[in-house]
Amino acid sequence: MRKIKVDYIIVGQGLAGSWLAFEMLSRDLSVAIFDEDKLETSSKKAAGIYNPITGRQMVKTWRADEFFSKLEINYSLLEKKLGSRFLHPIPIYRPFKTIEDQNDWEGKAADEIFLSYLKEFRTSSIGYHEIHDPLGGIVLNKSGYVDIPTMLMAMKAFLMNKGIYRAEVFNYDKIELKPKSVTYDNLEAKKIIFCEGSLPKNPFWDLPFRPVRGEIIDIEIDGLDAKHIINQGVFMIPKNDRFTVGSTYDHNNLTFEPQESGIKSLEDRLKKLFAGEYRIIEKRAGVRPATHDRKPYIGLHSVYKTLGIFNGFGTKGVSLTPHFAKHFIDVLQGKSELDEEVNVQRAI
Ligand SMILES: Cc1cc2nc3c(=O)[nH]c(=O)nc-3n(C[C@H](O)[C@H](O)[C@H](O)COP(=O)(O)OP(=O)(O)OC[C@H]3O[C@@H](n4cnc5c(N)ncnc54)[C@H](O)[C@@H]3O)c2cc1C
Repeated sequence: MRKIKVDYIIVGQGLAGSWLAFEMLSRDLSVAIFDEDKLETSSKKAAGIYNPITGRQMVKTWRADEFFSKLEINYSLLEKKLGSRFLHPIPIYRPFKTIEDQNDWEGKAADEIFLSYLKEFRTSSIGYHEIHDPLGGIVLNKSGYVDIPTMLMAMKAFLMNKGIYRAEVFNYDKIELKPKSVTYDNLEAKKIIFCEGSLPKNPFWDLPFRPVRGEIIDIEIDGLDAKHIINQGVFMIPKNDRFTVGSTYDHNNLTFEPQESGIKSLEDRLKKLFAGEYRIIEKRAGVRPATHDRKPYIGLHSVYKTLGIFNGFGTKGVSLTPHFAKHFIDVLQGKSELDEEVNVQRAI
């Protein structure tokens, strides 16, 4: 059988595979991409928030200045190329929990480290219907959410249009490894890059993933017209007539079925932030492809140099995948050394 030659085969069209494919095509590299097209994937369940200042301690996330400087530009360019709309820049309002929290932020507000991310520091309520914020809070910039399912659908249509998308399960037994190339069915590629997300069954990599299940609910609320993502204990993302509320973190019971305990924990936290009536419209759960040190696994196989991995984006797929897709391709093209912090070899 005569083989069709491509530069890269990509396995998986979640956020990771989509960004990698897009960046490769932008550099005139040829690609074939496989996806089994199932509903139970991390990208299809995610809330899609990007937020430079996170956690209980409200610190800048890992390398925020680097990853957030071009994030919105990258997604805007992708929107234009795909003719779709999925980037929603929205400031995040984070009410203060205690007076100490407020005092702490009064100091931090003038700090140069936070200047480009802090839009407003307020000591009185923002005035949203039934939102508990007697001490005011901070409003953050460079934040928002990506409607990932819409992005994936637009990307799939784009790839199908080019005739390079295969809606099938990639079968590892069909791989034939050669010294300088790899074949699969009628394809011959320089390399196969695995972007398989959480719980991969890939026989070539045995990596210390630390997957995390998370629940999310969509709710309807009458009379709350929020212009911010409200974030205290839970996040509430305003989306037309509803809010997406999330999320939980559980390293056990790694299922895509929402768990009663998870939904209860979400609702308990929601009720501390919002005292009004709401109706639950949808409950969902997903498993995040997190790793032992919360950094992605990127690079080539130590033995089979024609196999690579681009996975482990954990809780931050939205902000990390565009940056590292560009970086990994630079590495594959010999233009850059692989960033040691994400090098998969650290985990082997
Ligand atoms: C509840 C929840 C909330 C989240 N919230 C956020 C958030 O607010 N912000 C944020 O940045 N991130 C969030 N995340 C994390 C984010 O979803 C992930 O970081 C990101 O989606 C991972 O993308 P991925 O492409 O690596 O994996 P996936 O989305 O899982 O994609 C992997 C793809 O590979 C395909 N595949 C796998 N094996 C094969 C095979 N053998 N053959 C063919 N196809 C295959 C699958 O079908 C799938 O389409 C959340 C995740 C969850 C679960």
